[in-house]
Amino acid sequence: MTEKPDLKSMNQTELLSFVKEAGEKPFRAGQLYQWMHQKLSASIDEMTNLPAGFRAKLKQECIFSALKQTDVQISRQDGTRKYLFLLEDQNMIESVWMRYKFGGSVCISSQAGCRMGCKFCASGLNGLARNLSPAEMLEQVYRIQRDIGERISHVVVMGTGEPLDNYDNLLKFIELITAEEGLHISQRNLTVSTCGIVPNIRKLAEKRLGITLAVSLHASSQEKRETLMPIAVKYKLEELMHTCRYYFEKTGRRITFEYALASGVNDTEKDARSLAELLFGMNCHVNLIPINPVKEQIYRGSGQDAALAFKNKLEKNGINVTIRREMGRDIDAACGQLRKKYMERQVD
Ligand code: SAH
Repeated sequence: MTEKPDLKSMNQTELLSFVKEAGEKPFRAGQLYQWMHQKLSASIDEMTNLPAGFRAKLKQECIFSALKQTDVQISRQDGTRKYLFLLEDQNMIESVWMRYKFGGSVCISSQAGCRMGCKFCASGLNGLARNLSPAEMLEQVYRIQRDIGERISHVVVMGTGEPLDNYDNLLKFIELITAEEGLHISQRNLTVSTCGIVPNIRKLAEKRLGITLAVSLHASSQEKRETLMPIAVKYKLEELMHTCRYYFEKTGRRITFEYALASGVNDTEKDARSLAELLFGMNCHVNLIPINPVKEQIYRGSGQDAALAFKNKLEKNGINVTIRREMGRDIDAACGQLRKKYMERQVD
């Protein structure tokens, strides 16, 4: 059995050939595209300028992804919103909306679950359920933009999942979210975060996109990185750093290194010095974030003093560094926690 065509995952060329094959006039492709990617339609019934027969056919023969909002938690501290969405097959994913000075930003998931198994993260505790389609990634942004009623200017692929473990769908998502005829989010305003899947960082570099690549480093030595991130066993730190340099050479975009501070684990002065050595001479940015405690995991976040001392040490060594402002601390902010809570409730 061949898969049903997935309407919202198609680019304009694909949609055009689909419409022609269905025996409809070519301009219907433009209308469909507009309903999906500009008006952010949640159902085919909304598409009132399409012939009823064509709509019925689409409903019967195609996949039309529309996420169902199951829950939203709103932070009283800063207005951050954490959404829980239900997928067609009953899987759940979460996405976060934050308001910054520069505009609205959405953090999306790229997979339902994750198979990377980082030792401080909640997303991978139950393994990977499946990859998300391009449409399901887009939908997180679309549903939130409709809910908030305000333009979203930035998207970060930093929610549940490893985007470079879902490479083809990620690339399609980037194509669609940045398309002029869609939400037209600038590549500069798009960030993709990876735990360091080396071959796919290399592949992405070849595309020479203007997006920001964030690499989750979390440790400056091979041994320590392995204890925190199983993927480090497969792709060695040295290889990763080499590939990051290659990425910069190809794209001219400086890499952001994420470094989650775990108290007493990777936050000492010695760690800061070693990180500065590792990044010496590189055009990059370091984003420090004290670990958000996850009850099933042993790591605890560094205190403010330790985080500041770590930052100062890096700065003294000429490294560009910020401590990430923590948003939505009061609403299960750590990746995957809201989804996990719901899945446990379902199992009970
Ligand atoms: N798989 C990708 C993107 C998802 S995780 C990646 O690894 O980059 C997004 C970021 O949140 C990563 O830097 C990840 O290491 C970090 N993260 C996960 N759990 C965290 C926690 N409990 N506290 C702080 N940061 C966490």
